[in-house]
Amino acid sequence: MRQFLEVKADHPDAIVFFRMGDFYEMFFDDALVAGRALDLTVTSRNKGHEDAIPMAGVPHHAGRAYLLRLTELGHKVVVVEQVEDPRQAKGLVRREVVQIVTPGVVVDDDALEPRRPRYLAAVVPGESGPRRAGAGAGSGFGFGVGHLDASTGELRAAWVADLDELAGELARIGPRELLAAGPDLAADGALADLGRRLVGCAFTTATSPGAAEASDALGDLATDGPTDLAADQRELAGRAAAACLRYARATQPTGVLPVARLQLYRIRDALVLDETAIVNLELCETILPGAGSNGASRRGGSLLGVVDQAVTAPGGRLVRRWLLYPLVEVAPIRRRHDAVEFFVLRQAVRERVRRQLERIHDLERLAGRASLGVASPRDLGQLRASLGRLPGLAEELAAGAAGELELPELLRVSGDLLARLAELAAELVAALVDDPPPTAREGGIVRDGFCSIVDESRRLADGGRDAILAIEARERERTGIGSLRVRYNRVFGYYIEVTRSQLGRVPADYVRKQTVATGERFVTPELAELEGKILAAQETLVTREAELFRALVGQVAGRTAALLAAAGQVAAIDVCAGLAELAHRSGYVRPLVDDGDRLEIVEGRHPVVERSVPAGEFVPNDCAMDPAARQILLLTGPNMAGKSTYMRQVAQIALLAQMGSFVPARSARIGVVDRIFTRVGAADNLARGESTFMVEMRETGAILAGATRRSLVVLDEVGRGTSTFDGLSIAWAVAEYLHDAVGCRTLFATHYHELCALAESRPRVVNLQAAAREVGGKIAFLRLIIPGGASRSYGIEVARLAGLPAPVLARSRQVLAALESGQRIADGAGPQLTLFARPPRAPADPPPSVDLPPVDPPPSVDSPPPPVDAITARLRGLDPDAITPRQALDLVAELCAELARGGSSRPS
Ligand code: ADP
Repeated sequence: MRQFLEVKADHPDAIVFFRMGDFYEMFFDDALVAGRALDLTVTSRNKGHEDAIPMAGVPHHAGRAYLLRLTELGHKVVVVEQVEDPRQAKGLVRREVVQIVTPGVVVDDDALEPRRPRYLAAVVPGESGPRRAGAGAGSGFGFGVGHLDASTGELRAAWVADLDELAGELARIGPRELLAAGPDLAADGALADLGRRLVGCAFTTATSPGAAEASDALGDLATDGPTDLAADQRELAGRAAAACLRYARATQPTGVLPVARLQLYRIRDALVLDETAIVNLELCETILPGAGSNGASRRGGSLLGVVDQAVTAPGGRLVRRWLLYPLVEVAPIRRRHDAVEFFVLRQAVRERVRRQLERIHDLERLAGRASLGVASPRDLGQLRASLGRLPGLAEELAAGAAGELELPELLRVSGDLLARLAELAAELVAALVDDPPPTAREGGIVRDGFCSIVDESRRLADGGRDAILAIEARERERTGIGSLRVRYNRVFGYYIEVTRSQLGRVPADYVRKQTVATGERFVTPELAELEGKILAAQETLVTREAELFRALVGQVAGRTAALLAAAGQVAAIDVCAGLAELAHRSGYVRPLVDDGDRLEIVEGRHPVVERSVPAGEFVPNDCAMDPAARQILLLTGPNMAGKSTYMRQVAQIALLAQMGSFVPARSARIGVVDRIFTRVGAADNLARGESTFMVEMRETGAILAGATRRSLVVLDEVGRGTSTFDGLSIAWAVAEYLHDAVGCRTLFATHYHELCALAESRPRVVNLQAAAREVGGKIAFLRLIIPGGASRSYGIEVARLAGLPAPVLARSRQVLAALESGQRIADGAGPQLTLFARPPRAPADPPPSVDLPPVDPPPSVDSPPPPVDAITARLRGLDPDAITPRQALDLVAELCAELARGGSSRPS
């Protein structure tokens, strides 16, 4: 217990896996927590005594799986092993912490998702804390934010000005663990809040490394990034990177993290996307309620699901980065388009390259495991096979570029790199057998001819076995026992077995060892001597092979930087070939991206929605925006007409273009967008306990404060969360402000068709509508965006489609007409609500007081009257801010069905 308590004192926030014999035991709270999480039986040590201690254990061979499940649930686990043989220990067996596994620092291949990086993020505050609104930039403001994927060594860091920017950046990174490095930070409720909002992210506190400690931790790590970064921002970013490194290194007492460089970046050097935009534009996951919580299906319906056509895992991770960090400079964007175009034009080359890529393993993570010292012989075999394919890949590309088409820069694999890696590949070929085993424990790793000691001991061991066969033959002859066998077991080693009927022929020099049912077992001095030689040879062999293997892993680890560089180039080739494949299959075109401020899309399509409707049924739409004449496109039209699809598609096309992809359109020209803002539908932050309207206004406020002339703003139904007049007034003022003060390209969908009047007073507001046509009293959606404002909102038609009963529809038409003509709403001619017959089975409680506007009487006395009282009572009992949009929708459907049935639905 003393050993345990010592470890626990050093790691109070972790669950300690304490090795005792064949089990990892957990004690006290650890046992209770893990017991619950892993469904283990919790017993107790010193049972029945006053000092009984809760205890739970897992068998050591399954320990890894249990451990990883705990980290998946957000726990940190410390592994304590016995580091001496219990049989030889005097007193207590010595034990040591050998590894710490935390949610953000996982390097086990089976716990990692192939196409998703696993990030630990760290936040370090500036001396003066976050910049508050209105304050200018100055030394020590803001935060440093760093992130590290320990499995690939990817390390990046940036400086952010305030909590909003920090929240946006963390949403992009999507860390599994957030390190608040700084005492004040831990106490800062805002940051803890932020940590909680990140789905599946554990929150850890640590001390913040000072500037000197940071430069210690970073050592002479190569640093890339903008050269003109302000010194204090560079320092904060560096300290955040150092915090990641320090924390991750502490978890790997024996291995070296595969970090080859620190990448500093500036938030504004990529198109800025915050959490709202990432969610609303469904970049990585769909928000469709039908998709459920299954990660794969949520990803499938997202933009990432469409653009990720990479065949390798590193390609999958890189395309995610390209999508979340689109570029804002024209030249590098065009370089990516050039590379994609190359593969579009050279279809055969693309197909051959993709086939080559399929046989290249995850070079980044293989290099990572070598660096961490946990690579297996099989890993090195995969690495060797992958390296062997690089020259062919480079040749394929070079050959494809023959003729008038030059090989784009992005697709050129550095010859120097290839040469260096060819050397490594040759070393691996020389040293490793063709099909290396999954573990290094039993030898069989080193190729014949590589090492004389290995060859010699292999010969001795094998030769020993031949000698045994020879002895067997000789003894059969000498004794005349045809069934005589030389066998081996762990207890006696080699022995001679003679069956019962032949025992009479056994010579005198055999020493009897054991009697078994079928006969007897003997040993001879000759056999014993031979056995000694064989075992010694085998031991030498295994030890030597393990040594050579470690050295080989060291050789690979020494080339980490080159391996990661090559892996990066291969991943980029993979991404470009994948984007070309997408362009080819889905009819995308190369967009023109320039420094202008226009946005022109001809026959654009929504990349995700077009896949979900039958082929040929998606209706393409144009879009033309520019800050000079068509700055704000005001979009009206009925619900379900295609407004939000249209707006999202415009934003997604701009984003695709800037990430380097082709786009779903006949043609597109995009003046670089610096940031995409969205305020779409009832994106539910309800889970966070805020009212829809508050969220809506906060998001709108952030847009008005943050948008620049180059931003693209998508607003859907601003002002919906409040009363009609409030909402209309707010929407109106927001549109005016965007027009008068910001000047950014804006898509503004609204159900307040009154807003169309803005186009008369504001020159750069253009009215558009999602066309719908009434055919025989029914409304048909054309999904066409056409000029002009909708004259009416069709809301009542949509309500009719949704099954609202005729009397309610008729009365709403009356009320609408009155509202539109500015008249008072006249009482309906019919009886008051209280005159409705009550449903027959209504309980005898007093009727709820009703002060709704009167409604026309039901048209036919035959149909039973709808149970309006019951429905009213249900609605009264409801807090609209406390339910999700989905629940609201379900409720409406239920109530409509109830009305249609005319039955009773008393609240229970
Ligand atoms: P709104 O925002 O006007 O309520 P949506 O954009 O949500 O409407 O569109 C409603 C549905 O119509 C979508 O789910 C989609 O299936 C379909 N849709 C939208 N735009 C198109 C289009 N251009 N072509 C074909 N179907 C479309």
